[in-house]
Amino acid sequence: MNLPSWIRKKIPPPQSLREMKELLRSLSLHTVCEEAGCPNIGECFSQKTATFLILGDKCTRSCSFCGVRKENPAPLDPEEPRNIARAVQKLRLEYVVITSVTRDDLADGGASHFALTIKEIKGLANEIRIEVLVPDFNGSLSPLRRVIEAGPHVLNHNLETVPRLYPEVRPEADYLHSLGLLRETKRLDPDICTKSGLMLGLGETSEEVTGVMRDLRGAGCDILTIGQYLRPSSQNMPVKKYIAPKEFKEYEETGKSLGFLAVASSPFVRSSYQAHEMLADSQRL
Ligand code: SF4
Repeated sequence: MNLPSWIRKKIPPPQSLREMKELLRSLSLHTVCEEAGCPNIGECFSQKTATFLILGDKCTRSCSFCGVRKENPAPLDPEEPRNIARAVQKLRLEYVVITSVTRDDLADGGASHFALTIKEIKGLANEIRIEVLVPDFNGSLSPLRRVIEAGPHVLNHNLETVPRLYPEVRPEADYLHSLGLLRETKRLDPDICTKSGLMLGLGETSEEVTGVMRDLRGAGCDILTIGQYLRPSSQNMPVKKYIAPKEFKEYEETGKSLGFLAVASSPFVRSSYQAHEMLADSQRL
């Protein structure tokens, strides 16, 4: 399938990435921007922002859309939480997004490492806003509680696609588990801002997409991101359809009419893209 005219992104000049990459490597840090081949990396890195990927760069799951390596993960790096705080300080970040691979091999799914990372960043300055994009912790609640107790401002967990496509797209995940995680987050801390994201172009229908948006609102979700799936490599599932910008606009309107505080919906939107601005839009900053 040829790329449509609206899927165009300027290749960033290498020097705009070099400084950021040197800092990240000097602190042995990973980003989902690099590991998942995000199309916005040029824009974000040149603005000195990134989404930190913790718990290593190898995942225990095999989502067919994802470019992250699926291999036996290495032991956790105990220095990682402090090194992320060092990077936040060096970059003078006011808003930090932390995500992770899924570590089904760890008893708490890596929740204590998330909590430590949040604690290290909070130790720098109280004004820094922290968003965590968490895995599903296999539907277990105590790891989730551990992360929430550490006090992030935004808890993000992506549903990624519609329930009918889970066996093909997220075979080890469970739609109701993921929805339950967002609902439980609000129950545990009604003041936290919750967020989720969808990728389109995997074979879903617009009725299914609207159905998921209703489910998310039913779980009290505040912020929604909707973007176009782009194939990271020939190892990953093919794009079934390129959704036109007009359709993304319609989903944005639908999302706002359903009561989301902020909706970002366009082909290059990703779950932590312009995250700071989205929290501001939601007036929950
Ligand atoms: S859980 Fe799925 S989407 Fe997340 S890093 Fe692993 S393979 Fe990728």
